[in-house]
Amino acid sequence: MPPASTPTPSPAAEPSRAAGLTVTLVLVLLLGYELLDHHDAGAAHDPTAAPFRLIAVFLASAAVALSIAWTALRGHPTLFPVRLQDQRPSRSGSVVHLVQWLLWMRWLACAIATVLVLLTVDVVHMLQRELLSPILVTLLALAAANLSFEEWLKRAPRDARLQVGVQMAVDLAVLTVLIHYSGGVENPLSLLYLFHVIISGILLSRKVCYLVALTSFGLFAGMAAMELYEVTAHYTLEIFPHSSTVEEHGAARTAHAAGGGHQEGDAVHAAHFSPYVYSRIFLQAVILLTTAYFITTIMDRLRAEEAAARRMADQEAEARERLESVVEAAGAGLRLLGMGLRPIWTNPRFTAWSPADAETRQIAAATLEDQETRVTEHASQAGGRTRYLEMTTSAMRDAGGAPHQVVQLLQDVTAKRTAEAEASHAGKLAAVGRMASSIAHEINNPVGILSARLHLLLRKKDFGEVDLREELGKMTALTDRITVITRTLLGHVRSGKRPREKILLSQVFERISILMDAWAKQKGIDLRFTVAPGTPAASGDPGEIDQILLNLVLNAIDASPVDGTVVVQAGAHRDAEGQRWLRLIVEDDGPGVPAASRERIFEPFFTTKPVGKGTGLGLSISRRIVQENGGRIRVVGGAVGARFEIDLPQAPEEGATR
Ligand code: ADP
Repeated sequence: MPPASTPTPSPAAEPSRAAGLTVTLVLVLLLGYELLDHHDAGAAHDPTAAPFRLIAVFLASAAVALSIAWTALRGHPTLFPVRLQDQRPSRSGSVVHLVQWLLWMRWLACAIATVLVLLTVDVVHMLQRELLSPILVTLLALAAANLSFEEWLKRAPRDARLQVGVQMAVDLAVLTVLIHYSGGVENPLSLLYLFHVIISGILLSRKVCYLVALTSFGLFAGMAAMELYEVTAHYTLEIFPHSSTVEEHGAARTAHAAGGGHQEGDAVHAAHFSPYVYSRIFLQAVILLTTAYFITTIMDRLRAEEAAARRMADQEAEARERLESVVEAAGAGLRLLGMGLRPIWTNPRFTAWSPADAETRQIAAATLEDQETRVTEHASQAGGRTRYLEMTTSAMRDAGGAPHQVVQLLQDVTAKRTAEAEASHAGKLAAVGRMASSIAHEINNPVGILSARLHLLLRKKDFGEVDLREELGKMTALTDRITVITRTLLGHVRSGKRPREKILLSQVFERISILMDAWAKQKGIDLRFTVAPGTPAASGDPGEIDQILLNLVLNAIDASPVDGTVVVQAGAHRDAEGQRWLRLIVEDDGPGVPAASRERIFEPFFTTKPVGKGTGLGLSISRRIVQENGGRIRVVGGAVGARFEIDLPQAPEEGATR
């Protein structure tokens, strides 16, 4: 037997002990009274002569009723011994539980038996009063045994299995003695043996169940045979036609023996009539063994089903564990939600990263509804640092094809985002690098004029002939122009994200024209900006919108022939689904983008420009920014050249930019 773990003290121990002591006390008092009073045989059938016993009946019944009510009200587990799945033989804790339950049931049986015996003697007068003493002694012996069983369990819980065996053996022996004193083969309570057969069949093994059935049968058959062959006396139940006292019984037996068989009017009882006794013994064997057979067959099937269920659960747990370690190794967070968004499984990483729960559940609900896979980005501040998370939410279907679960996969894209931000910054610097000569030229012009004016002034001997105020005003205008150019340039190359704000397209176009005009002029290109009336404001990071337009305008200028035209437009747009957008168009009259490479041009590092001139980053960065802002970008073949269209969501409160 594997070593048993020390059982947790059962909450039933205390009430069980109290009930046991009460039952024992009642039995002691009853027996004491009976022993003092036993010579008063004539009063046996007079209920008034036994008020004490009636009080005892009442007390014992009350104790039974109260203990049952208490157990039921507390929903006490001891009333229902052990759940089926706890019945693995290896679980010694559950055997201890079973012993506790047996102890409790034995107290209950003692109390019920006491009440039954007193009722049988005093109320229905089916049992001779003389039998009360031996029955009470037997019950007291059972009570004493139960007290010592309790003690045994307390001291040696590891022997629980042995205790079950000993207790059952004692129970069967006591039951046989009780049946012997209360009618023997006549007693219908001989069916009580079945109780142990059923219990052992349910809670113990097939072998033990048959052993209990055979022991029960042996004891019953032995008792019946001993009564039949008059090795012991037979005490009848008075509903049967038989001698009513021990003395009469003795006399009838002698007469029966002397007469060499029973005669008319002779009160020889069925217990002495061998065909009846044999058939009764046979019947008992049939009942006990068929019960053992049925109960063990049912239990074997249940256990097999349980084992199969357990195997399946183990396999499921194993599969889950495997999935968990795969997800863990992949460094991802995973969550599985059932119908009603009930969490089925969440891995520790998902919990640790804890993106905003309300938001992620909302996405899950939408996916469960339309079964569309969603890829969303979230920021988490877990662990004191900002983490960028990409979450893929997809629906899982059951065998019938109906969506029943949602899986959310969380990936840390912080490193990717940082790299992208760096690439984006590099992209900006690259653009500025390409425009450097024109910007230098743009700054050089006012600086040159400024310098010329200053030199002229310095050469003057007499400032009286110059309008100094006018001169200084012109010079200030020139420095202002330089300041605007450098400020726009610095604003453009600044790295990092800025908070969302409402963006007026006229202002964006102004900044772009400050940066690009000189470059366009240098290439002989006519760069035009138009904002249609009623153009709504956009919402986003102004630096990002500038960056998109700058990339597109740079490409357009690159593609346009000398004397070409690049048109940048903004206006409101309503698509086929009726959704309103802010539309930006950058159109040139260059060669256009060949249809074959219309998708590829948005891939990172795709460029057709010579080394040193193209990085292949401009369009990929532009597309990412547009998508992050909930918009879309596409290239269409223009009338001539290429036409890039960008749709951005309108700012919440609409405002025209003109
Ligand atoms: P880069 O300009 O550094 O090559 P981009 O991502 O901005 O990188 O552009 C990728 C490619 O897309 C360019 O190399 C070019 O082949 C094509 N392209 C972009 N804009 C235009 C345009 N307006 N006309 C024709 N081709 C274009």
